[in-house]
Amino acid sequence: MIEDEIKMARAIRRGLEQEGYVVDVAADGEAGLEAALEPGVDAVILDLMLPGKDGFAVTHALRSQGRWLPVLMLTARDGVGDRVRGLDAGADDYLVKPFAFDELLARLRALLRRDPMVRPPVLTVGDVVLDPAAHTVTRAGRPVSLSTKEFALLEFLMRWPGTVMSRDRILLHVWDYDYTGRSNVVDVYVGYLRRKLEGPSGDPLIRTVRGIGYVLQGPA
Ligand code: CA
Repeated sequence: MIEDEIKMARAIRRGLEQEGYVVDVAADGEAGLEAALEPGVDAVILDLMLPGKDGFAVTHALRSQGRWLPVLMLTARDGVGDRVRGLDAGADDYLVKPFAFDELLARLRALLRRDPMVRPPVLTVGDVVLDPAAHTVTRAGRPVSLSTKEFALLEFLMRWPGTVMSRDRILLHVWDYDYTGRSNVVDVYVGYLRRKLEGPSGDPLIRTVRGIGYVLQGPA
């Protein structure tokens, strides 16, 4: 989410997190564009009026770099011209402030459904199956009960199987910028996941890469 109004950003983030989304917030266009270009981002909620690069410029920059992830534009203005300009710049949908949070949720869900490449219905690595929509995880067909953060961490690792993810990158995507410097939270949650996913005789699923971070690996 790229939004310079701190209170608004905080409220939306809290609401989305309660729905199980993982939200990174950037307060200006430059930082937002950089964050939106990171792997693992599924959609962008983008305020139109931003310091520095505005929402039009951010959308245009994303599209011109070949990033087609869904962009939901927020605008304080009710002007038809802004909406047309936003959609022309490459936004997929827009919401006029003030809006009901439920409407934001509904539009976000619709955008994430639109492109199955952006949000595959089910992620599978080895015998682990994670369903983002139903919020369920199974290993070898057996249901595994995870907390919201554990689920988000596993989802992130499952989206990039075989790719070593540094603690910082995991923090950025699964927690938020505020956690920088507290990287042992990642180790703690990887520990929780291992305990829940790797039975006493089970194959290791999440491997530690010494000095770097973690990688989720399916069976060879
Ligand atoms: Ca603004």
